[in-house]
Amino acid sequence: MKSERWKNKEKKIQDLCDAFGEPLERLLKNASWDSVVPAICMREGCDYTTEYEPDQDSGWCEECGEQTVVSILRLAGVV
Ligand SMILES: [Zn+2]
Repeated sequence: MKSERWKNKEKKIQDLCDAFGEPLERLLKNASWDSVVPAICMREGCDYTTEYEPDQDSGWCEECGEQTVVSILRLAGVV
């Protein structure tokens, strides 16, 4: 369910910034010229972060064993 999946979007963006130690604008700026960008699992309670293609919205989470990882650009609504 799409809306359910995105309901903790703000928190996930914050978690991602914390994990990479950079503010959102910095992550987005860096992402604009990288082939892989920061990505995070959208499942509540899971804080798995990794790097994926900029338009990834169903990347594999090694913690959950599901395709729940979304890129920072998707999260922020850039792509
Ligand atoms: Zn996960």
